Amino acid sequence: MGAWLASLSLATLMLVVAGYYIGLSALASALGFLAERALPRRRIWDVPLARGQYGFELLGNLKFLAVQLPIATAFLHFGWLRFGEGSALLTFVGMYFGFQLYYYGLHRALHHRALIRFHRWHHRSRVTTPLSGQSMGYVEALGYAVGYFAIPALCAQLGDASPIVAEGWLAYLTFNIFGNIFGHANVELGPRTTTWRLVSIFQPPYVYHALHHARWLGHYGFASTGLDRVFRSEFADWRELHARVLGGASLPSLKFRGAGEPPPRGAGHGPHGD
Ligand SMILES: [Zn+2]
Ligand SMILES: [Zn+2]
Repeated sequence: MGAWLASLSLATLMLVVAGYYIGLSALASALGFLAERALPRRRIWDVPLARGQYGFELLGNLKFLAVQLPIATAFLHFGWLRFGEGSALLTFVGMYFGFQLYYYGLHRALHHRALIRFHRWHHRSRVTTPLSGQSMGYVEALGYAVGYFAIPALCAQLGDASPIVAEGWLAYLTFNIFGNIFGHANVELGPRTTTWRLVSIFQPPYVYHALHHARWLGHYGFASTGLDRVFRSEFADWRELHARVLGGASLPSLKFRGAGEPPPRGAGHGPHGD
């Protein structure tokens, strides 16, 4: 597949990249909305969306695509992302762990006083929807592009033959984009097992990131609880709230807390300013 991508003219590659991103985003969003509709008893927040939310989220998605499409095309067209012949599975696994680590660092950095302005667009969505996942400003979208393209391109320089296999890289990218969009749906699809210590390192329930949007200061990992646990940025009540939602009781307010979770820690880089 790497050879096929390299053989495409610039115009065809642009069409392929646009078709991939837009098609995948539309599919994941549609399935996310379908899940929200199909499972009203698994609704996480029983809180209305902000006025005009779908509108600003759609605009945020366009900003994301405006950054991703030219960068993806450039990395593939100019051969900056060099592909090799090794194991696609190893590439997937390497991308999986590498991206978790990178994303946690990026996300924590974006919550720093100096950078929070670049992350505010994503946090305009307090109650999230499938359109929230890729709703962000240009700088944050650039941060995603570094994880998707620049870091694998750097890894591809290791050794004479690139360890990055095109199929493994594309499979991970698809998994990541789909999960990011679908995982922002306001519906809990994670079974009880997703609260188990080991399982949640690889697949936390949906309420996990939903709490980040409501509270800001914690749960910086998206698809893993691992680094939040290491760096003590985990909320104490997420399992309790997950059990509540699974029991058919949505969370009635964004300020809702379970037993054991202390009240908000005063001022910070939170929703109401620095
Ligand atoms: Zn989010
Ligand atoms: Zn955040």
